[in-house]
Amino acid sequence: MLIVPLWAAIALAQTPAELANDPTVRAALEAVRRNEPAAIEQEVSVCEIPAPPFHEEARGQELKRLFTGLGLQEVRIDKAGNVIGVRPGRAAHPNLVFAAHLDTVFPEGTNVKVTREGTVLKGPGIGDDCRGLALMLSVIRSLREAHVETPGTITFVADVGEEGLGDLRGMKELFGVTLKGQIDKFVSVDGTGLGVVNVGVGSYRYRVTFKGPGGHSYGAFGMANPIQAMGRAIAKIDAFEVPSRPKTTFNVGRVGGGTSVNAIPYEAWMEVDMRSSDPAALKALDEKFNAAVKQAVQEENQRWNNRGAVTVSPELVGIRPAGETPRSSPIVETALAVSRALGVEEVLREGSTDANVPMNLGIPAITISGGGAGTGAHSLNETFDTRDSWKGTERALLLAVALAR
Ligand SMILES: [Zn+2]
Repeated sequence: MLIVPLWAAIALAQTPAELANDPTVRAALEAVRRNEPAAIEQEVSVCEIPAPPFHEEARGQELKRLFTGLGLQEVRIDKAGNVIGVRPGRAAHPNLVFAAHLDTVFPEGTNVKVTREGTVLKGPGIGDDCRGLALMLSVIRSLREAHVETPGTITFVADVGEEGLGDLRGMKELFGVTLKGQIDKFVSVDGTGLGVVNVGVGSYRYRVTFKGPGGHSYGAFGMANPIQAMGRAIAKIDAFEVPSRPKTTFNVGRVGGGTSVNAIPYEAWMEVDMRSSDPAALKALDEKFNAAVKQAVQEENQRWNNRGAVTVSPELVGIRPAGETPRSSPIVETALAVSRALGVEEVLREGSTDANVPMNLGIPAITISGGGAGTGAHSLNETFDTRDSWKGTERALLLAVALAR
């Protein structure tokens, strides 16, 4: 009689549906349902610790404490502020990184008290991404309670800098320094619902400043004008032709400058956002943009025979790398099969998430959402409806087990 240890059972080429019926995995899925009320309490308490952009430390410390309490190993905080904890498998590889982000878009001093009405929680960040953090903690707890052993290792990460000008700095540090070359697969849990993101929309963001000596609108007439130079640049940008597939976009989102209606301005500025899921298309657009800005300034200076010549400095204030994990890749197929096995029918989506960084590096990566239903992400009125939210946790747990082999 041969006794097959569990890890061997999981290592076999079981489909996600078969895996869901494995007694140990089934016990973990049952634990998820049992633990969901506690997970929701955790979601509230984590969310009431402020985590403004670039100041995730307090919430990070709490995650470190919770990771340690749940038995993760090598719990630590890296240079960027990512909180890392390891759940070793039979082998170090494959190493699945399972992540959720700590940061919010809300500035310091925001009231982060969570209120409840029936099944609905309301508070800044409650869905994006307190839900992801709570789900991750519940997955760790439920795997532990059911004594699930995986062939590969799962590294859990509560990361920094996902939102806005955070510019994915947590992921850049994790993949570029902290765990460089050690990550085989990546799943992040972000927000609410049951979506799967396999296309990472990349973006370049610029703040472009135009400068000149400025002067009196009447007395100094005949000088180049920074605002008029910027107008030329905007007209050129507006005329760009971009591919519709892959969807590639541009937007001049904010402008400013000048001091008075009767003064030639000494300064003008604009903020520009360009996006695409295709790295080559994004790079081509970026080159066109930089050329157009330069050309616009040259034309403005020529127009006024270089009197009071305008200079320009485009400052890159954000880069999100683009990438895609193909529909046919094992990680995407597994995610869809896991969803189906649990009765969740999902379509694939595009997004701009932590997974952009590994996608761009060619590491299999997706972002899944954390269950329940949300409204008003990035607003003070953000809500999260906890009804059936356990479905998201179950799906994430089964996916983690299916990928850690
Ligand atoms: Zn998010």
